Amino acid sequence: MLESMLALPVEKQIFLAVLGFSWTVYLWEAYLSYRQRRIYRSTTQVPQELGKIMDTDTFEKSRLYQLDKSNFSFWSGLYSETEGTLILVLGGIPYLWSLAGTVSGRFGFGAEYEITQSLVFLTLATLFSAVTGLPWSIYSTFIIEEKHGFNQQTLGFFLKDAVKKFAVTQCILLPVTSLLLHIIKIGGDFFFIYAWLFTLCVSLVLVTIYADYIAPLFDKFTPLPEGELKTDIETMSQSISFPLTKVYVVEGSKRSSHSNAYFYGFFKNKRIVLFDTLLEDYSPLNQAGDHGADPEGNDMPSESKVKPKNKKQGCNNPEILAVLGHELGHWKLGHTVKNIVISQMNSFLCFFLFAVLIGRRELFLAFGFNDSQPTLIGLMIIFQFIFSPYNELLSFCLTVLSRRFEFQADAFALGMGKASQLYSALIKLNKDNLGFPVADWLFSMWHYSHPPLLERLRALGNVKQD
Ligand SMILES: [Zn+2]
Repeated sequence: MLESMLALPVEKQIFLAVLGFSWTVYLWEAYLSYRQRRIYRSTTQVPQELGKIMDTDTFEKSRLYQLDKSNFSFWSGLYSETEGTLILVLGGIPYLWSLAGTVSGRFGFGAEYEITQSLVFLTLATLFSAVTGLPWSIYSTFIIEEKHGFNQQTLGFFLKDAVKKFAVTQCILLPVTSLLLHIIKIGGDFFFIYAWLFTLCVSLVLVTIYADYIAPLFDKFTPLPEGELKTDIETMSQSISFPLTKVYVVEGSKRSSHSNAYFYGFFKNKRIVLFDTLLEDYSPLNQAGDHGADPEGNDMPSESKVKPKNKKQGCNNPEILAVLGHELGHWKLGHTVKNIVISQMNSFLCFFLFAVLIGRRELFLAFGFNDSQPTLIGLMIIFQFIFSPYNELLSFCLTVLSRRFEFQADAFALGMGKASQLYSALIKLNKDNLGFPVADWLFSMWHYSHPPLLERLRALGNVKQD
């Protein structure tokens, strides 16, 4: 078979290699998920060493939740792999490209302008993927998350959100892409350096404006009210010289009852964001009986349908501080900076290799571009298809690195004397989010960005809670 493949023209070989690699990755991941599903199916009793931290009821709930999610991702994964293959085999990319040419010609921009055609192509492509992805995310939100008590959205809110997301993405994607294409066009021999610097600036600008101008378009951020929790967070930040300027609570409960916390910002201007679902005293999900009005007495927007859970969720103040101790550990230990440096080094390398490869006509021939070599298509072919083995390897290495960072951040919180609070917070969060504490070793090695719960608890040193 290899021999007959080598007899083919080089562009056919490239095409088959890309397709073959894509299916190899797909089958590998399907195999891993199968192994993990087997664990969900067979582990029906709480393992002995977990007896103290998880009750039978929660264990069973999380088992069924994860099993549903895994079955769903089997079908959605099969669909997207098939769709991707059909697009490649049937020549969907050159078809969309020529359609974009016709559309941009009809609007009077003139089809000869490659950048206009590229922007129309990009809009059509993102529209296509948004539309084909929509039924899947509707199913996931309104059938699976709903069934397991996480969904807090109405269909109206969900659809409005999807349209808003599409519009905001276009507002960023189109100007950035047209500038990038322009830079590549006029950049000369060292265009890859300018292109890389440009994307670096774009990502810095996006990180800077995201929280103040983009995220509030989607969610409501309110400053954490004065009180014990706020004072404690400020004191803790000072003790490790974290330049905290503001603490926000985001209304995550409007979307789902999953919980989280993070920090962001450059240099001396750091902010902490807490999901309302993380805060025991703040979560609307804990406040049964007074829906219809928010704490200020205003009417709730009609699209939100926050339904109180019957059980209390979230963490108490000392536990929240321990979670933040872990988050600030990521900052103090330089994990954030290290991640930025790695991703920028990677991006530089990719642009350099792109410069080496973009002149190769056979790459375009392989994907059905017989008489033109548009730069945007080159970016897509090289970054998405040609680099895919490298991307897979890189993402595996980053997952391994992330688990190391998580252990280090836990150890940092332990060093702050917060081990026992972090211990109980991890258990509560696992329970609130219905995490399943048993994992197949190969599946977790490949996919888990966070170490399994038991390993984290063990590393915190078997702190006794009671
Ligand atoms: Zn972490």
